[in-house]
Amino acid sequence: MEKATIEQFKNLFLEILSEEEVFEGKLSPTSLEGDEVDIVSTEKANQMDFRLKARNAIYLQKVRKSLQKIEEGTFGECEDCGAEISYNRLMARPTADLCIYCKEVEEKEENQLVNKNRHSSKIGRVLPIEHLEKGYNKDETSTSSFHVSHMDYQDIVS
Ligand SMILES: [Zn+2]
Repeated sequence: MEKATIEQFKNLFLEILSEEEVFEGKLSPTSLEGDEVDIVSTEKANQMDFRLKARNAIYLQKVRKSLQKIEEGTFGECEDCGAEISYNRLMARPTADLCIYCKEVEEKEENQLVNKNRHSSKIGRVLPIEHLEKGYNKDETSTSSFHVSHMDYQDIVS
């Protein structure tokens, strides 16, 4: 990556960090005085403030990490395969750690995990014959949805 390009990202990161300092100054609670309603709303505001900061903190950590990479000369390199992350990708997501290919692999693996979980919970929910037999016996005495479960039962045993 060209030095000028790296410089461009460095400035962007520094800008984000300095803006954040101003931002934090704005959000800091200034006063807890006032009547009860004021105190409650101030507490609520502080909670939101806290959540916002927590979310921001993760992002800022990434920004600082990227700045550190610039210092080390590894900025723009994929952490997995070492390939250069494309300029377009960095423009869209300056704190990207992985090249687009490795990112896709990572996301596929995450999706597979999710699918696995879905699959096993489905099995857990459908208890085939035993479940239907219970329904069948119960519906023999009380008639409610007897017909449907009876037919399901036949489908499975035949
Ligand atoms: Zn990669």
